[in-house]
Amino acid sequence: MAGGATPNSDEVAISLERMSGIEEIDEKNMTMIAWAGTPLQTLQEAAIEKELYLPLDLAPRGSCTIGGNIATNAGGTEVIRFGMARSSVLGLEVVLADGTIVSAMNRMIKNNSGYDLKHLFIGSEGTLGVVSRTVLQLQPNSVSTHTALCALSDYQSVISVLNNLKLSLGGGLTGFELMWANYFEGVIEMVPTLKNPFSQGHSFYLLVEYKDNDLSSGAQRFEDALVSNIESDLLQDALIAQSSQDALGFWRIRDAVSEVLPLLGPISNQDVSLPIGLIGDFAEAAESRMKDKYPGFKIMYFGHIGDNNLHAFAYTGRAEDVKPINTDIMHMIGEFGGAITAEHGVGVLKKQYLPLSRTDNEIQLMRTLKNAMDPKGILNPGRVL
Ligand SMILES: Cc1cc2nc3c(=O)[nH]c(=O)nc-3n(C[C@H](O)[C@H](O)[C@H](O)COP(=O)(O)OP(=O)(O)OC[C@H]3O[C@@H](n4cnc5c(N)ncnc54)[C@H](O)[C@@H]3O)c2cc1C
Repeated sequence: MAGGATPNSDEVAISLERMSGIEEIDEKNMTMIAWAGTPLQTLQEAAIEKELYLPLDLAPRGSCTIGGNIATNAGGTEVIRFGMARSSVLGLEVVLADGTIVSAMNRMIKNNSGYDLKHLFIGSEGTLGVVSRTVLQLQPNSVSTHTALCALSDYQSVISVLNNLKLSLGGGLTGFELMWANYFEGVIEMVPTLKNPFSQGHSFYLLVEYKDNDLSSGAQRFEDALVSNIESDLLQDALIAQSSQDALGFWRIRDAVSEVLPLLGPISNQDVSLPIGLIGDFAEAAESRMKDKYPGFKIMYFGHIGDNNLHAFAYTGRAEDVKPINTDIMHMIGEFGGAITAEHGVGVLKKQYLPLSRTDNEIQLMRTLKNAMDPKGILNPGRVL
């Protein structure tokens, strides 16, 4: 996504494919120790077998590794409740550029004995060390999942619904995925197997997911929370999934992005963060400014709004427009005080834009750390910095 894992012809790529497997699941402590090359899905399934839950999930679960997830501080769909990969990492073992093995395989939630070194490596995109093993914090596996697809008329209502649901569903709100009409209606038009479950068009479509440990009261609590938002005219409509098939159908609309992207031609694929209150204005401003500048400009938006994260896919049909559109969006992110990447990382593609969302002193401190830990610059050279 950001070119960080694509080796150049004069570089050596390290595969951790054979450093794979689970060393231990401690059911009492709810922790798991695994090698960095283990596929995410293997870890998810092993946790479920013990009636535990690893709260990290993303589309490439079968191929991505926990080491890669940690190196990119991956997010996924339940960040609103469980945080990004960082929140599930208790400990790490890391190999430094000079071959030193640093074992920081902490198993405790509270440990303030000096600097918490693991955070240096989480999200560092392989530039500070190679993660070899990890201790992960597991969670209880919730009994029931409740899903609804809702329709809204304006972005202000989206924020109100988010705050209301946080209040009424407490920590159980696990998904808050917002699709703009340009995305929702676009994917339904382009993917023949998708059906629009609403009889009329709306400006925003919202996929809400709630997990509860109580099967019967959970369903009622979820329904009550949605009904109260309908009664206050914040939701125009809400369809509650009556089966896992229904829920899957709702998620297929949200996940159709991977089927649709290859059909759009050359695209500017953006993954940015903004304060929640500004996301609606940003989306509107980006669309109107660029429509004026680029003939045939189209854009689709969806986002993990509860996590500040907006995904934008902009296209004109012309490959030569992609770079200038990327640059325009990055500069607008700077203007709105956002982050140039939320999930995909900086890699090589976003390196030049880093000063738009980080101060000079922050970047200087990053360079100081990089120089101290990898003075010869052999780990992922030219990525991030
Ligand atoms: C289709 C698709 C959907 C995605 N959806 C999401 C999403 O919803 N949320 C999200 O947050 N992200 C998403 N991503 C990005 C995702 O976070 C990363 O692709 C994934 O976590 C990287 O894991 P990997 O094992 O594939 O690593 P790679 O792609 O192999 O590497 C990624 C980076 O991490 C470094 N790295 C890998 N392993 C290690 C290690 N052991 N030690 C140190 N550095 C290492 C590499 O050098 C590289 O810079 C998506 C990606 C794809 C392709």
